[in-house]
Amino acid sequence: MTTVTLGMTGITTNKNGFGALPIQRIGADQAIKLLQKAFAHGITFFDTARFYTDSEEKLGEALSSVREQIYIATKTAATDAKAFWKDLETSLRLLKTDYIDLYQFHNPSFCPKPGDGTGLYEAMLEAKEQGKIRHIGITNHRLSVANEAIESGLYETLQFPFNYLATKEELRLVTKCKEQNMGFIAMKALSGGLITNSKAAYAYQAQYEHVLPIWGIQRENELDEFLSYMENPPVMSEEIQAIIEKDQKELAGNFCRGCGYCMPCPVGIEINNCARMSLLLRRSPSELQLTKEVQEKMKRIEKCINCGRCASRCPYGLNTPKLLKENYKDYKEVLAGKPL
Ligand code: SF4
Ligand code: SF4
Repeated sequence: MTTVTLGMTGITTNKNGFGALPIQRIGADQAIKLLQKAFAHGITFFDTARFYTDSEEKLGEALSSVREQIYIATKTAATDAKAFWKDLETSLRLLKTDYIDLYQFHNPSFCPKPGDGTGLYEAMLEAKEQGKIRHIGITNHRLSVANEAIESGLYETLQFPFNYLATKEELRLVTKCKEQNMGFIAMKALSGGLITNSKAAYAYQAQYEHVLPIWGIQRENELDEFLSYMENPPVMSEEIQAIIEKDQKELAGNFCRGCGYCMPCPVGIEINNCARMSLLLRRSPSELQLTKEVQEKMKRIEKCINCGRCASRCPYGLNTPKLLKENYKDYKEVLAGKPL
């Protein structure tokens, strides 16, 4: 079984973390069964967030009896100390525990530091002194904030999107974390559904011994797939390399990474999902994208006022409004039963 140590935290865990965002979408019984099965087969790192509706509650229900044998990472999106404490107390209660192994600032738009006026970092330190949290981390989607967090020396872990579609700058974050002895937690290891070959995704992550991928798991067959890799870990081969190169070619250039840097949109368009709908439809089963809820989200594109805010914020230089319209056109064709 391959293990990862998250830098200076000393947290050593199986190289398959459980990303508990998707369990929001399934019933409590099903989620509890999934989490308990994951633990029974050797998964010991569970990543959730206050923001993921009932994910913490399900985790607490499923795993509080084995609390000492697992690591729980959760997150707060608080922007001031008062909200920080409220979030932390709620997380502790729902997770049925009196400590969080890794408490992370959830995708803040800036890097919290002592003396910045928000009181956030001071609250983290106090929570650590009180024993309510054991380690301090940060998650982000912005390169600038991630770089600042690494350089600040204030964080023990960074959680950032990382997969085989990573840019050179993103790869550099991984190296910098290693140099600073910081843990690197890879979110979006399947690029939010764009990477459909989990074997290739796993083999890519396996090349970075200090990186802990957290797989967003919702179904038992997905869990089984990753559990099977614990016994027979896929390794980089010519065949896998060819799959990766094909995807890198296909997904190079004008594709939306789903990072969300461009949001919020003044008319509420969920850009990070809608601007890559055509790719999602081509690469994953379309029924998942054709639900009433997704149709409503796509229809909102009609409300775009072409303010240009999204395009000016996109780090990949995408013409986002144009991309949204192209994706909406494709979407309507698929709804009408035409193949893409
Ligand atoms: S349009 Fe650009 S900024 Fe917005 S989600 Fe896609 S890649 Fe990220
Ligand atoms: S251009 Fe359209 S999609 Fe982009 S932020 Fe403005 S309203 Fe939203």
